[in-house]
Amino acid sequence: MSLRFCNSHSLYHLLLVLVIFCSISTIYAEANEDPTIRTMEAFSGYPIHESNSFVTNLASSLSVDTETLQKRIDELSTFSDTPAPSVTRVLYTENDVLARSYIKNLMGLSGLSVREDAVGNIFGRWIGNEAELAPVATGSHIDAIPYSGKYDGVVGVLGAIEAINVLKRSGFKPRRSLEVIMFTSEEPTRYGISCLGSRLLAGIESLAKDLTSTVDGQNISFLDAARSAGYAKEPNDLSSVFLKKGSYSAFVELHIEQGPILEEEGTSIGIVTAIAAPASIKVDFEGNGGHAGAVLMPNRNDAGLAAAELALAVEKHVLESGSIDTVGTVGILELHPGAINSIPSKSHLEIDTRDIDEKRRNSVIEKIHQSAITIAKNRGVTLSEFKIVNQDPPALSEKSIIEAVEAASKELNLTHKFMISRAYHDSLFMARYR
Ligand SMILES: [Zn+2]
Repeated sequence: MSLRFCNSHSLYHLLLVLVIFCSISTIYAEANEDPTIRTMEAFSGYPIHESNSFVTNLASSLSVDTETLQKRIDELSTFSDTPAPSVTRVLYTENDVLARSYIKNLMGLSGLSVREDAVGNIFGRWIGNEAELAPVATGSHIDAIPYSGKYDGVVGVLGAIEAINVLKRSGFKPRRSLEVIMFTSEEPTRYGISCLGSRLLAGIESLAKDLTSTVDGQNISFLDAARSAGYAKEPNDLSSVFLKKGSYSAFVELHIEQGPILEEEGTSIGIVTAIAAPASIKVDFEGNGGHAGAVLMPNRNDAGLAAAELALAVEKHVLESGSIDTVGTVGILELHPGAINSIPSKSHLEIDTRDIDEKRRNSVIEKIHQSAITIAKNRGVTLSEFKIVNQDPPALSEKSIIEAVEAASKELNLTHKFMISRAYHDSLFMARYR
């Protein structure tokens, strides 16, 4: 779910949506004989087959402690490597470890049973009356890229904890367990891998293997950094992070939009129907260097111009897809040796391309590859690397969740719109459990 986060008033409502979602999920539980354990039907006073009408009564009986929630968001933002109002919190650094303790402490205060896995994904479970049923989960991340804001990811973690608190205060007892998840390293800042924690939960074995030899910019290995933060204690236990399919019955993530659409339109709630599928590619060209004055134009094999031409080809192929949903970006373009009077002998590009249609995006990647080969040939340079770093499948939101968020938005008189999440979050990987 995306949202526009502008003031505490909207915060109240947005979190209520999250709360209501969490509550709704329990309607799938079967009838229970114990009168002290209330079904959503009993809790709301509405029969569940009258679609979403139970939201009406439920919403009016719940109250979010916005003051405490805002205080916690502000407190968490102080665990930062850069001064306020910016937040910088990088995986397994001292501030990250302190922030993790803060979250675990809050989960404990909410009476959740807390578990951490080998890479530091943190799970706080409110055990339902029928603990054997797959839980409903919600959550996000708290790591922060350098000089970011205090709401990215944090809203989805602290908001989820408050949602649990609201339900507890109201006297609700879940039949299906409810769980708050704080995912490790959604941001790629330290090890170049986005959504590291949720990718591992999704059981990507190649990642578990790669992480055993991955180092950061300071040559500190992933495993050493994880151990210094108290994780990955056994040498080969990264595969212990993998979750079995069916571990959760539903997952929803509350997140800031990270785009301008909702704010520009003055719309409060973005109901995400699909998450665009990202892919990233690394490309290297190698040509011949030489003096910028001494080597005449017909004799050049300029690796820099090959990179420039490929950057333009990326834009061309993306635009040719015919869909506004196809996007491509060359965010990194490096030239070697990088001197004004030296013909670039090497160039390096990193390309990000996304789409909600996996086939269309993959066809763009193939065209980029073909262009790279042709450009290298025409310019007499070598295409020394064309590496697809990741090529993730897109995700579609579950209909029942879309409908639940829509019903809650309507009930709370919040403006809302259906939209595609073009930024991706941990939900993209949690979607693999269905
Ligand atoms: Zn985020």
